[in-house]
Amino acid sequence: MILVTGGAGYLGAHAVLALLEAGEEVVVLDNFANSSPEALRRVRRISRRKPALVVGDVRNRSVLDDLFKRFPVDAVMHFAGLKAVGESVRQPLRYYDTNVGGSINLCQAMAYAGVFTLVFSSSATVYGDCQRMPIDEQTACGHPTNPYGQSKLMTEQVLASLAQADDRWSIGVLRYFNPVGAHPSGLLGESPKAVPSNLLPYLLRVAGGQLPALPVFGNDYPTPDGTGVRDYIHVLDLVAGHLDTLAYLRRSSGIRAWNLGTGLGYSVLELVHAFERISGISVPLDMRERRPGDVAKCWADATRAREELGWVARRDLDTMLRDAWHWQRANPTGYSKMPGSGTAAKVADERASALPLR
Ligand code: NAD
Ligand code: UDP
Repeated sequence: MILVTGGAGYLGAHAVLALLEAGEEVVVLDNFANSSPEALRRVRRISRRKPALVVGDVRNRSVLDDLFKRFPVDAVMHFAGLKAVGESVRQPLRYYDTNVGGSINLCQAMAYAGVFTLVFSSSATVYGDCQRMPIDEQTACGHPTNPYGQSKLMTEQVLASLAQADDRWSIGVLRYFNPVGAHPSGLLGESPKAVPSNLLPYLLRVAGGQLPALPVFGNDYPTPDGTGVRDYIHVLDLVAGHLDTLAYLRRSSGIRAWNLGTGLGYSVLELVHAFERISGISVPLDMRERRPGDVAKCWADATRAREELGWVARRDLDTMLRDAWHWQRANPTGYSKMPGSGTAAKVADERASALPLR
């Protein structure tokens, strides 16, 4: 059985679905700090299987000890954490406590329960500001520019020490580039509780008429059109990488990091124009200053994941944008209830069935 911490969140819920579809048993631990139980109801609806759920905090040792006693967990995917960069600058202790403290607490409870297989959600932000692209796993460019990124790097360091001290551990560190997109059913997607800070969720709300214009943070970067370039990866590809990592870890020990990205970089304007072409909607732009802490460009060399895990990202940018737009149209208010129109899931079902299949 797999424990998925943060399994009700954007990436975690897609991972839970993929694990259930692969025949695994799953228990989710989530405190719903940034998610809703509705995500798990929809996972159940798509997979026709039910993950077990423990509502609790990853920082709470007794919750974890109890969970490991009740469920025969043999591996953990650790998604639970806080991820808003700007918020991490304002509330650093909360970020270190949840992301680093929560991970340490989880590892202590795992060791106590005799569970030593762990997949950890890290981020390309650990590479800092690199000039040379693409970025491979050995690249050292400096330090993350904010407490969120630091919390990921610190957790990686904790995990490396742990694996060095005790060879029972088998740990996969997955450095995500920019996960976007949604499940093609339109039932699962990203549903942030606050106004989104990431590009695509913000763009979707502008296109959906909930926000007036998309801020473009800087058009004077040393990139072809002056806007920031990133490696966007479809959430389903990202999650497939987790299942491949799990298979690898089950036959190995030690610690290893892998990049999960497509290897392709797109600028903010390229992404906006691709979205406009796909949706037929014109997106009003609001040119702004550079956002503090942003890097000009960031895309992956994912050769190691291909060679060692047999994993490659298969979905292109158009598919990412189409699936994300499908999700947004079907769920304009995310997982929360839409006033006067029943549940968002019912509306999603109705609208999804009206959309053409790809
Ligand atoms: P998310 O906020 O949608 O999901 C995180 C989940 O963890 C939520 O369900 C939240 O309720 C839960 N959670 C938060 N604090 C918790 C706690 N103390 N105890 C138990 N549960 C808690 O975020 P996501 O996009 O799904 O990201 C998942 C992981 O991937 C995070 O660790 C994030 O830092 C990492 N990551 C995400 C991205 C991205 O762009 N989405 C990029 C790189 C890395
Ligand atoms: N960005 C933007 N407007 C927004 C959000 C993001 O122009 O409202 C830009 C940001 O400057 C970066 C890219 O879009 O160049 C991706 O940003 P995001 O926050 O999605 O991911 P990051 O790579 O910063 O983690």
